[in-house]
This record gives sequence, C-alpha cells and structure tokens, in this order.
Amino acid sequence: MSETPTPPEGTTPLRLVFDEPRGRKKPPRHLADLDEAGRKQLLADAGLPGFRAKQLSTHYFARLADDPAQMTDLPAAQREELVSALLPSLMTPLRTLEADKGTTRKTLWRLFDGALVESVLMRYPDRATVCVSSQAGCGMACPFCATGQGGLQRNMSTAEIVEQVVAAARSLARDEVPGGPGRVSNVVFMGMGEPLANYQAVIGAVRRLTDPAPAGLGMSARGVTVSTVGLVPRINQLAEEGVPVTLALSLHAPDDELRNELVPINTRWSVAETVEAAWNYARTTKRRVSIEYAMMRGINDQAHRADLLGDVLNSYGDWGWVHVNLIPLNPTPGSKWTASDPKDEREFVRRLEAKGIPTTVRDTRGREIDGACGQLAATEA
Ligand code: SAH
Repeated sequence: MSETPTPPEGTTPLRLVFDEPRGRKKPPRHLADLDEAGRKQLLADAGLPGFRAKQLSTHYFARLADDPAQMTDLPAAQREELVSALLPSLMTPLRTLEADKGTTRKTLWRLFDGALVESVLMRYPDRATVCVSSQAGCGMACPFCATGQGGLQRNMSTAEIVEQVVAAARSLARDEVPGGPGRVSNVVFMGMGEPLANYQAVIGAVRRLTDPAPAGLGMSARGVTVSTVGLVPRINQLAEEGVPVTLALSLHAPDDELRNELVPINTRWSVAETVEAAWNYARTTKRRVSIEYAMMRGINDQAHRADLLGDVLNSYGDWGWVHVNLIPLNPTPGSKWTASDPKDEREFVRRLEAKGIPTTVRDTRGREIDGACGQLAATEA
C-alpha cells in the first residue's frame, strides 16, 4: 500500500502516507511484542533461562509491577539482566492533564526516540476506557483533525501500544483515579494514528490485551474498539482475523463529493466500497459496527445528509448491523469548521432514528484538556 492515490481534478494534492520513513531505529524489544514462545526464545538467545519469561509476564500483566525491586521471585543477581531483556522502559510521561474531577486523565508520552503520543483514561461509574494511540502522527490527512495536519512520524510497536493500557491499569489498580481501585474494561483505538495502517502491530496489541493473564491482560475482545478511516482491504482482513473487536468507521459524510474532502482516503475507496466493507465486517463477526460522524456546522450536518446517510446504511438491510455515533466537532486551532448548532444536531438524530438507525451523540468528556491535540475525543456514548 505505498502508492498515493491520484487526487481528483480541482482538489489540492493529497499527502496520504502509508509507509513510515525507512532506516529508523526500532523501539526496544519488550515482552508485550511477543507471544509466550517468543519471550522464552528471546531469553534463551540472551543466555538466560526461558522459564523466567512467565514470571516476568506475571509481573507485567497480572501484578502490573514496574519496579524490579519488587520482583523478588527473580534471583537478585540476574534480575537486572532479565528486566532489561524483556521489560525495557518504553516511554516516559511528560505531562498529565486532568478533567471531570480527576476521572478523565490525558497523558502525553515521550517514546524512546523523542516521538510524542497521547493516551486518555476515562472512568465512568460502570467502566473504565483507555483511548490509545497507534502511530506517532498520522498519514491520513483529514483536514479537521489535529493529528492529520502534522503527518506521520512513525508506527508504534505492539509493546508501545500495550504499555499505554498497562500504565492506565496501574493507575486504576493503585487507586490513583477517584472511585476506588479499578480495572480497565475498554480500549478504543481513537488516539493518534490510523490503526489499520499499522495493522500487524495493532493486531499484536489486541492479542496481548485479550490473551488470558499472565500471557496478556485478559480483557474481552468485545471491550476493544478499532476505529478507522476505512482502509477497505484491511477491514476485510480484520473480519477474518478471529478477534471480534468492535469496528468503528469514521464516515463523516454519506456522499463521495464531501467525503473526498473530509476523509481524503475516500478518493481511493468510495463511500459505497467503505460502507460495504463495514457491513461485511458486521456480517462476518456478528458485531454491530459503529459509524463515527463528526458534526460540522453547515458542512455535513444538513437534513438531506441525515436522510442520505440513513438510506446508504439501510441499503445493506435493517437487521441492526450498524449504529451511528455523532461526535460534536472539537475545532482544531485555526479551523474553518465549527460544531453544529444543537438544533441541527437534534434534527439529524431525529431523521436517522426515523429511518430506524440507532443513533447516539458522543459525550464530550475531557474536552477542555483536548486542546493540545484536538483529536483525542472521548469515546462511546
Ligand atoms: N484514524 C482513526 C482513529 C483516530 S481518531 C479514525 O480516523 O477513525 C478517532 C475519531 O475522532 C475519528 O472518528 C476521527 O475522525 C475523530 N476526530 C478527529 N478529529 C476530530 C475533531 N477535531 N473533532 C471531533 N472528532 C474528531
């Protein structure tokens, strides 16, 4: 997937990027990059006993330990070597911003090579969701999205993705978030990056999140949502992967003319091709697909577009394969777009529901701490 689609006549040239620059240093190898056999092998290659891999995995995924001094079941003389072989430091928190009385926490991380990414923990009475990044930057160039403006720096490794969740799990387990000690119940790939453009690392991360402890975090695949601009071949591949995550498709417009502008990858795969892939995902996995639609005043929020969206989705049947999640636009600095009038938003919901499409408006948790990124929108309705 390296060639760039040809822009249609009369539009600005696209800057879609699928491949990261070559010749970069790779992030440190970490046990979360590997399955159990791979972890043992890595220790063996370093001349260390393979059976220690399981103890290290238990410390990382089950006990959420990050201090080697607490890993007293490892021989003191070998501890440092074992930890640096399988549990190297992956990222450093630079800043944490809080909102909603501390129940929303956004962390800015610096990766080993200086790249910056963000993750957000959102705690609700009945669940705790972590919104993770899958790439430093993004190559998909959606003009309303802050990350899309900066281009792609690089793909994140599986362990760098997983570590964002483990870090959130630690702060919940250690009672650092109001509401008492807790666990991560949901992970959404709605931070920086296009997850399906970093497919192998993202699938690896989903496996680590869902592998039973101590091989992984032991989460339910139902609690994991992968959000995409709509890389059609990758959606089809994901449908066959055997990990029934929830798929969210960032549609944002029901017609090609407007979607070409808002989500430039649409010039390669049309609305019809993209929605068909989403429907195929629902059919294959029996998981309801979520259509993301950022409401932009006077751009995509007209009554006729609500009707068209309903018709497009219903053309694949009304067996409950889909629901629509409207996201009030969080304008990026200098953006020419702004959020919809609440009246227009209500009418949009009404028209979709009149066509039998379940529709929710996403809550805007942590909006006031989204300023720096403008994109890490809070999740789920
Ligand atoms: N690349 C993936 C995931 C990242 S963003 C994707 O596009 O789906 C998660 C969601 O936030 C996407 O639906 C994205 O379109 C939306 N988003 C991006 N910028 C936004 C903004 N300024 N306001 C509201 N939603 C935004």
